[in-house]
Amino acid sequence: MILPPATLGVLGGGQLGRYFVIAAHELGYRVVVLDPDRQSTAGRIADEHIIAAYDEPQALQRMASICAAVTTEFESVPAAALASLARFVPVRPGAEAVAVCQERSAEKRFLKTHGFPHVPYIEIRSEDDIRNIDAGLFPAILKVARFGYDGKGQERVAGKDETLAAFRQFNKEPCVLERQVTLDYELSLVLTRGEGGVVKCFPASENHHRHGVLDYSRVPARASAGDLTRQAREIAEAIADRMAYVGTLGVEFFVVDGRLQVNELAPRPHNSGHFTLDACVASQFEQQVRALCGLPLGEIRTHSPAVMVNLLGDLWYDEDEQPMREPDWNILLAEPRLKLHLYGKDVARPGRKMGHFTVLGEASDKVFETAMACRAAIGIGDD
Ligand code: ADP
Ligand code: MG
Repeated sequence: MILPPATLGVLGGGQLGRYFVIAAHELGYRVVVLDPDRQSTAGRIADEHIIAAYDEPQALQRMASICAAVTTEFESVPAAALASLARFVPVRPGAEAVAVCQERSAEKRFLKTHGFPHVPYIEIRSEDDIRNIDAGLFPAILKVARFGYDGKGQERVAGKDETLAAFRQFNKEPCVLERQVTLDYELSLVLTRGEGGVVKCFPASENHHRHGVLDYSRVPARASAGDLTRQAREIAEAIADRMAYVGTLGVEFFVVDGRLQVNELAPRPHNSGHFTLDACVASQFEQQVRALCGLPLGEIRTHSPAVMVNLLGDLWYDEDEQPMREPDWNILLAEPRLKLHLYGKDVARPGRKMGHFTVLGEASDKVFETAMACRAAIGIGDD
């Protein structure tokens, strides 16, 4: 067990890293953040911020020499950097698990090999692959295999010509082409697996996206999801076991024709798990710290229904996309059952995650109603 006041390291300094720092600080650890961004929102509150590329040998060396253990806040950190750190310090989740989650084709192959349900897809590596596509796969979505997030690096395509055009637009980067399915709705869940294989799974949330970005998450998910949330949990736990995963893992699901399909895996806490900060005994970030340090996992009991709403940079702009003032936070602060979280980012850009809020309460319907009223009042539209 790595006990406080040891120093922990995290690769990546966005909001997920920031909450890792906060959770680690609460438990008495010191934290080093590695992030090339001088303005890193996690770096700002860490004990040390190493401003360097994720694969810079000197930076990794410094991390290895001062940290008792290292984790990551995002999947796009080079798996090789994790592997090189792992020669000197425990790295959780390990480089192999991150390598699977950071590359859509590796991820799909993993799901396929181990029989986890997923939507039909093929890998696209060349224009020839496109010529050979079975037309039955369309309509489909072409997704770049690496570095895509929040709907970026995705294009909906109706046939081979459009696929070819989109592939060229993506500079012929390796892609996956997956069938575009009609979603009943989306679910996700976050679990933490400790070193000994103990798993604690937070309740599944029902997720709504807007322009490819998570808009809000609702916990518990709709009543009819009961059976599916149990299944989702079994699938997610089986995935974590298969990977011998250690750490916090997010698993996104589609519900299609009443059945679950695994969409993607995140080797870290997940945006849809932010409700755990306010509605659970231990948050997904506390669990991340505990798993990293080999501590017993915390209690995940959820003491309130919750709705989490993302606050994107769009709110800082008016309808003509002209930058305006800070949103009127009084609107949200006036609701006593609402917990406002702002990440302290300097620059608001459309689509950028700037904060979120979570509404708590007794009755799920009422919590939802209040959250949607607050969401509308702060200016989030329904288009
Ligand atoms: P990321 O979250 O990395 O941007 P996802 O693959 O999760 O990428 O896609 C983002 C969102 O786009 C999903 O949550 C879902 O709403 C929608 N989407 C993605 N793939 C499909 C698909 N095959 N069929 C229908 N909708 C999809
Ligand atoms: Mg996703």
